Amino acid sequence: MPYVHKLYEVDYKSGAIKRKNKTCPKCGSFMAFHQKPVARWHCGRCGYVEYAPK
Ligand SMILES: [Zn+2]
Repeated sequence: MPYVHKLYEVDYKSGAIKRKNKTCPKCGSFMAFHQKPVARWHCGRCGYVEYAPK
């Protein structure tokens, strides 16, 4: 899936994948995307979690 690299930025230190255009609805900070244990976005600033569809 080469196209994924355009949408996501992988942080190899934490293992998180950051989606550039995803922001937190609570504080407006960028959210990190985690695939495990379940696909979800997590805001490192306020702790908000949004589970990905599917
Ligand atoms: Zn937040």
